[in-house]
Amino acid sequence: MKYSEMLIPTLKEVPSEAEVVSHQLMLRAGIIRKVAAGVYTFLPLGSRILKKIEAIIREEMNRSGAQELLMPALQPAELWQESGRWGEYGPEMIRLKDRNGRDFCLGPTHEELITEIVRNEIRSYKQLPITLYQIQPKFRDEIRPRFGVMRAREFIMKDAYSFDLDEEGLKVSYQKMFDAYSRILKRCGLEFRAVEASSGLIGGKKSQEFMVIAESGEDIIFYCPKCNYAANIELAQGENKVILEENILPMKKIATPGKSSVEEVANFLNVSPGKLVKTLIYQTEKGLLGVLIPGDRAANETKIALSLDLKELHLLKEEDFTKYNLIPGFVGPIGLNDIKLVADKNVKKMRNFVVGANEKDAHFINTNIDIDFKVESFDDFTFVKLGDLCTNCKVELKEMRGIEVGHVFQLGKKYSEAMKAYFSDQKGELKPFVMGCYGIGVTRLMAAIIEQSHDQYGIIWPFSVAPFQIVILPLLTDSLEQKKRSEKFYHELERLGLEILYDDREVTPGVKFADADLIGIPLQIIIGKKLNQGRVEIKLRKTNEKFEISADDVVKKCREIVQKELEKLGDKSG
Ligand code: ATP
Ligand code: MG
Repeated sequence: MKYSEMLIPTLKEVPSEAEVVSHQLMLRAGIIRKVAAGVYTFLPLGSRILKKIEAIIREEMNRSGAQELLMPALQPAELWQESGRWGEYGPEMIRLKDRNGRDFCLGPTHEELITEIVRNEIRSYKQLPITLYQIQPKFRDEIRPRFGVMRAREFIMKDAYSFDLDEEGLKVSYQKMFDAYSRILKRCGLEFRAVEASSGLIGGKKSQEFMVIAESGEDIIFYCPKCNYAANIELAQGENKVILEENILPMKKIATPGKSSVEEVANFLNVSPGKLVKTLIYQTEKGLLGVLIPGDRAANETKIALSLDLKELHLLKEEDFTKYNLIPGFVGPIGLNDIKLVADKNVKKMRNFVVGANEKDAHFINTNIDIDFKVESFDDFTFVKLGDLCTNCKVELKEMRGIEVGHVFQLGKKYSEAMKAYFSDQKGELKPFVMGCYGIGVTRLMAAIIEQSHDQYGIIWPFSVAPFQIVILPLLTDSLEQKKRSEKFYHELERLGLEILYDDREVTPGVKFADADLIGIPLQIIIGKKLNQGRVEIKLRKTNEKFEISADDVVKKCREIVQKELEKLGDKSG
């Protein structure tokens, strides 16, 4: 492409609305423009990058044996009512009515639709396994759209769905997708890690997220530096380091006038917050639930809901406390007769702790489980924190931040059972399909690549996803010789199948350099005064390495560099 003919509206200033680097650079490099909160246009440069990323994804999906299809964004409510998610999804789903008053949504994901297709079209075990995928826009009315396309309300996802005879088959299909995802991210030049994750509204038992490691990431990951364990903080498990070897003391009631928060009580009694046990009262579909957790830890509602198989879980509102004779700030496990009590596993190790006395301005000290009160069960109900140990190898866990770019799930029979999607097995019996689903955020991936690959001058695209692999920069606009030579390079390199941007604009060398660096083309051919001695310069954007070579060698050299760099990224086709 000739630069003069292409719409690349670069900006000098950093746009004030952009908080993270990728968002700033996507605006500045003329890749995207905002239409509404969380809704973006991809300008020509952006569109080219998207196509490159999509091509990598497509190749790896096809290589894994998955087949591409294309489902609509507009989906009838009936399918979602069958799975039960029309009610569950909440305000993140964009709902609308057609002219006849029928309910529809703009698909936030496609489990229902794919299950509908497969239950109609696939009847026999002989047609299994099968994995289907699409690359298509998704709609989610995010509560807080931000960071540009990173958390958008309309975004592009590659979603795939596998259908198997049984759990064994599912594991094989899942592993194929897992491997394909690893290859995709490697080819995009990313440093990433797969971590255990919670399945959320999508459902199923096992799921893993692919995290691109970045300081700006919204997700927190805990990992063990010794074994392979890594998990999203939503789910990460650890063990309390300190085990108190204390003799059990008799429980005693203490006046704590006006001291209700953990901090106030701990200060007042001159103990650490870890000496207290908080009693949190939740409202659930199975009635009230009391959860005991150490004073220095935060409750993890994902874990609580998963462990106790709860759909609804809300902290009891303070105005409802009196209904159950509860006193805000002084709730404790002793005397809570009508409330089911469970405790975080860390509480099991605690001795002589402090709890609320269920009476205003009073706490019990020296409380002990099984002596002063009982709980129905223990499990992991809290978030891990720094200082916790890996449950496998007892080494301290470490923390890092990541951007979730992909998520793979072993769904099992959740959708096939709810939507009566059956096939007939070898014996002719009807069985529900065993499903998996797999998503990669294509547009989020673009932002994640920039987060990991940029410098103060702009983006540094890996060769595999760059909108153009090479930019040709003739520095003197009035030199016919430079112009001719540029055009020769341009045509010869394009003929080799390389992607070239030829900066034919009548602007100063400074502007050309700044734009080339900003939009991040990985290889630059700089044609300057030395052309009359037959010499030109080539520069690698990433390392800033420059070499002067004979103009006659440019085409060969550039081709070699592009091929070598693509091979480094694990691209065999390049
Ligand atoms: P998050 O926790 O970030 O909201 P999610 O768990 O809702 O993500 P999935 O439903 O697993 O996401 O969707 C699959 C992939 O789609 C994600 O891994 C992410 O890359 C992408 N994605 C999800 N929500 C958005 C969004 N609002 N904007 C851009 N990409 C998104
Ligand atoms: Mg989400």
